[in-house]
Amino acid sequence: MKILVHSCCAPCSVYPLKRLKGHFNDIEFLFYNPNIHPYTEYKLRLDALKQFTKDESLILHIPEEYDLNPFFRAVVFNVTARCHYCYDLRLSSCAKFAQENGFEAFTTTLLYSTYQNHEHIIKLAEKYADQYNLQFYYEDFRQGWQHGIDESIERNMYRQKYCGCLYSEQERFDNRWKKRQIKLLKAQKS
Ligand code: SF4
Repeated sequence: MKILVHSCCAPCSVYPLKRLKGHFNDIEFLFYNPNIHPYTEYKLRLDALKQFTKDESLILHIPEEYDLNPFFRAVVFNVTARCHYCYDLRLSSCAKFAQENGFEAFTTTLLYSTYQNHEHIIKLAEKYADQYNLQFYYEDFRQGWQHGIDESIERNMYRQKYCGCLYSEQERFDNRWKKRQIKLLKAQKS
């Protein structure tokens, strides 16, 4: 069976690939991540994945368009719920690409991250698997969290310091932003 792996970056791909090799003999990767900003950071992560897929002798698909505008159009009026739109955009594009290019199954390295909303990713992936008549390969890749970290360091991969979007970059480095977000969430709940 031919599977397309949506990859968010090289370090998050190490463990999933190890697992997928045990189940599939035809594996290709797709880097579709318009959520990574600024563009120089996008390029750093893409270059690291190019090196990784080259080392592993895998085909890496890279869309011509960066799609920055669709990303911001989707999230700008709902920043606190932005991850939903972010997953949706990436998974729907991956499933569409998989169907158009003769893949039978797809999965995503987002299932490796302990920082992402795992259940939500599963729901969306299942939805798009149905829509595009594909199999969604699910495995809880978070089991290999430490393994992926250790191996990516050993292999001297570029390791990012924040999730991807400009909002997450500010969240990571700016305490004022964090306080404002907590206030906002509290106000929404009350
Ligand atoms: S925090 Fe991460 S998952 Fe959420 S919108 Fe930003 S890049 Fe996407």
